[in-house]
Amino acid sequence: MKKNYLFTPGPTQVPPEVLLAEAQPAIHHRTPQFSRIFKELSEDLKYLFQTEKGEVFTLSSSGTGGMEACVANMMSKGEKALVLSAGKFGERWAELCSVFGVETVIAKAEYGDAIDPADVESILNQHKDIKAVFATQSETSTGVLHNIEKIAKIVKGYGALLIVDSITGIGIHRFPFDEWGVDVAVTGSQKGCMLPPGLAFVCVSPNAWDAVEASDLPKYYWDFKKMRKSLKDDTTAFTPSVSLIVAMKKALDMIKEEGITNVWKRHERLASATREGVKALGLELFAGANSSNVVTSVKAPEGVEIGAVIKKLRDEHGVTFTGGQGSMKGQIFRIGHIGYIDEFDIITAIAAIEKGLSEAGHTIDFGKGITAVQRALANS
Ligand SMILES: *Cc1c(COP(=O)(O)O)cnc(C)c1O
Repeated sequence: MKKNYLFTPGPTQVPPEVLLAEAQPAIHHRTPQFSRIFKELSEDLKYLFQTEKGEVFTLSSSGTGGMEACVANMMSKGEKALVLSAGKFGERWAELCSVFGVETVIAKAEYGDAIDPADVESILNQHKDIKAVFATQSETSTGVLHNIEKIAKIVKGYGALLIVDSITGIGIHRFPFDEWGVDVAVTGSQKGCMLPPGLAFVCVSPNAWDAVEASDLPKYYWDFKKMRKSLKDDTTAFTPSVSLIVAMKKALDMIKEEGITNVWKRHERLASATREGVKALGLELFAGANSSNVVTSVKAPEGVEIGAVIKKLRDEHGVTFTGGQGSMKGQIFRIGHIGYIDEFDIITAIAAIEKGLSEAGHTIDFGKGITAVQRALANS
């Protein structure tokens, strides 16, 4: 018997209530039954994004589909965008822009660091023709959190649009869409939303519509104008992932019941306890001062082949962590703690790391990590 534990920053663990909702017999999407669920879901999504004015579209795709829709709908040929790039997902914004022929200026930070808002300011000052800024709230590949509130103030000051990948922000970190003045934000189902992969949610502010109307980039399936028209009729333009939508309604019920502020606090508390556990084992954090509460990225200890440790924990013990992406491969490992996660999950995760590193020959004082986790949780 092997029990599976998913400590990855997406896909994440799915609550049994949500799985059961998803397992219900399918309903047809052109029915009052579906429209009622979809209408309620679209309202609840506004709570998730903390918006009154924005409209939230549900896309049947993974998060990247939502990102592509943002570029295709917000930009026009030959226009210029500023991309904030501090990891694989920031790089994805730049790749998407390039595919659509959008000219990019890149603000870069080393892997493990956050983009300095002062750099954003100086680039916007230098390139007055930048129409939009593409940012990543939580750079999941490195575990770094960006200060979107501060970046939004700067971007607004230059009259540019702010488009945020909050795929591992929404439902984990504070993200008040209206209050911060974000123009478009995207999230996905398999991160903080506690769902299997397959849905993306894009929140569009009233301020963004001039750009949408003017956009001349090719799109058919990903057209915000079609989505907006259908949303007004409590439906989607094309056949949506009905079962996932039904499941998402359940997940949002759970989030509403806990309260979004409490959801953010829980993630903060669990992330902080994880960091304490890691440090107590003598391991070094990769993201330093700008650690997000999504994932704890840890430098692989000297002399340990971390890829083999991750593989053994997953295949023999049923515990899944992720390694580093791109050039961070073999250098770091990442402990995801988002969505359906509680304090005993963190204890399990740290216990698994103690076991995995010990089996790889690294000296581990058993219990030191989980003791630190227990203490941190008791004191918070
Ligand atoms: C997971 C993730 C994505 C990509 O989402 P997919 O669902 O894999 O397409 C994009 N950005 C961030 C920050 C993510 O964590």
